[in-house]
Parts: sequence; structure tokens; C-alpha cells
Amino acid sequence: MASSSKVKVLVLGIESTAHTFGCGVAAGNGELLSNVNSEYIPPKGGIHPREAAQHHTQVAVGVVKEALRRAGIVPQLLSAIAFSAGPGLGPCLRTGATVARALALALNKPLVLVNHCVAHIEIGRLVCDLEDPLVVYVSGGNTIVSAFAEGRYRVFGETLDVALGNCLDTFAREAGLGHPGVPKVEELARRGRVFIDLPYIVKGQDVSYSGLLTAALRKLHEGVRLEDLCFSLLETAFTMLAEVAERALAHTGKKSLLLTGGVARSRRLQEILRAVAEEHDASFHVVPPEYAGDNGIMIAWTGALAYSHGLTAPIEASFVKPRWRLDEVDVPWR
Ligand code: AMP
Ligand code: MG
Repeated sequence: MASSSKVKVLVLGIESTAHTFGCGVAAGNGELLSNVNSEYIPPKGGIHPREAAQHHTQVAVGVVKEALRRAGIVPQLLSAIAFSAGPGLGPCLRTGATVARALALALNKPLVLVNHCVAHIEIGRLVCDLEDPLVVYVSGGNTIVSAFAEGRYRVFGETLDVALGNCLDTFAREAGLGHPGVPKVEELARRGRVFIDLPYIVKGQDVSYSGLLTAALRKLHEGVRLEDLCFSLLETAFTMLAEVAERALAHTGKKSLLLTGGVARSRRLQEILRAVAEEHDASFHVVPPEYAGDNGIMIAWTGALAYSHGLTAPIEASFVKPRWRLDEVDVPWR
């Protein structure tokens, strides 16, 4: 074995906060060696945490083996095992944590706890090559505007209730549009002609989507033309977020804006936030689609950053944290 490969930091990361069980292997120098993900799609309705966790249990061994195979490494070469410890759904988190602990014990490697929101930001910073962006992180479960200040990712605005993705997915499901909801709503919205007034709720730097969702569902059941409703819902929801992001950009004076998370794949949201960035002479960046939704490699990469700064956890203290906030996490690598 060449001595250089012995000192190379290699971290395996496990993601299991919600619908996706993922595994990736990342190197400390930012090389992304593999990224294998299996998404649970419920036969009908929203995600039931226990059923998603059962899916994760069924696919875990296969996903981990495939991630190692694609990375082309034997597990003994790994420096550490990282897992997404929160925020997320309890049963799903515990499944990933159990797999990670078993691997750490069997291989005698340290364990690293990664915050899922931090990981969405770090993968975006890495692949878009950004030092210090204002971040708009939007997914099925989270809606956060964040910027780094004094050792942590601070929250400059977030949803007070449901997340942007969840709001649009729920509407899509009720309208019979299927999964994933956001692109389906967006497709119909392009054929919208009439803008229907819906509740636009911004409180200080925060947004609230539950009233908007309720109103949109009421209009749906009243028989309002679906294309017009999709158009109005999407424009209202995205503009609320853009307003908050714009004030955050003006206040923090950051020179770049990064859009990350599952809903970052929305063409319309990209368009709106690009305009916001241009208005403030900031560059605009979107995380590539393969790193937008929940994935294993973002946990591996963030795990590598944390491991390189000595942030490991003993097995007996490796609890999951379903409500772990982004701004509770110390970020010593910045
Ligand atoms: P995440 O929780 O980060 O995996 O993101 C899931 C969210 O991404 C859901 O709300 C989906 O509707 C949304 N999504 C999936 N595919 C797309 C797409 N192509 N464009 C926009 N949003 C998408
Ligand atoms: Mg996510």
C-alpha cells in the first residue's frame, strides 16, 4: 500500500433523514468518489415515517456496498463513517444511524454526526466553487435563507410552518398531479393565463406557506382552472421567498447567491433568484441536479470536513436529533 493513500482522508456518508437512503464516499481534498441513492416513493399520500424507514432498512446494505464498489475502495481504507443525524423523521434517522454505528463498530472507525442542512450548503459550496455565498436552501422539508457569520450558518429567514417543497407537493397530490409535485405544478403553471390572488404571507424575515396552501386547495375544490391556480401558487410562493432572500442579500452584502436543496431544480425559482442576485451585483449559482435532492455524497463531504477538524462522536453519544437546527452547529472549517 502506498503511504500517500494511508494518510488520505476518505469518509463514507449515510443520508436517511426522510424519503432517501443514500451513501457516498468523499475524500478530504473534495474528490467525490461515489453517490448512490434510493428514494422511497409512497404508493399513495405523503411520506409515512415508518414505511420510509422500512424502505431504508431494505435497501441499506445494497446501497452501501454499491457506493463502496463505485468508489473503488475497500472499507478498511476509510478514515471515518458519517451520518446525517438530523433534522428529519425519527424512524428514518434511526435507521441510518444504526447502519452507520454498525459500520463504525465493525471497521473500528470513528463516527461523525452531520447536520443535513449544513450538508446541503457544503455540497453546493464545493461543486459551485463558492467561498461565502448567501444560501437559499429549499427542499421537501426545509426552507431556509442562510449566511455564514462568526462560526455558524446563521438563519436570515425561514418558513414558520410547512416547507416550500411540501406545500407544492401537497397541492400537487390533491390535484392528482403525482410525485414529484414541484416540476408537475411548474409544468402546468407555464400554461397559466390569469393570476388569482392568494395569501402572500411574509412576517419580518420569515415566510408562512400553510395559509397559502389552504387557500390554493380551497380554490382547487371550487373548480378554478388548474393551470391558473398552479401559476398563481408558484408565483406567490416563490416571490415570498425572493423577497426574504433579497433583503438578506442587501443586509449581509454577500457577493454570491447559492440555490441548493431539492427544489433548486425549479427553472422558475432559478429565474426569479437570478434576477434578485443581478439586482444586487451578486453572482448566481445553482447546485447541479444530482446534488440537489437528498443524497449520500453531501453527508460524506461534510463528514470529511468535520472529521478533518476532529469532530467525531463516541457511539454511545451518537443520538439522532430530529429537530437539529442549522444555526446550532459549530462550523470550525470556515
Ligand atoms: P429534497 O427533500 O431535498 O430531496 O427535495 C424534494 C423536493 O424537490 C420535493 O418537493 C420535490 O417536488 C422537489 N423536486 C423534485 N424534482 C424537482 C424538479 N425537477 N424541479 C423542481 N423541484 C423538484
Ligand atoms: Mg434535504
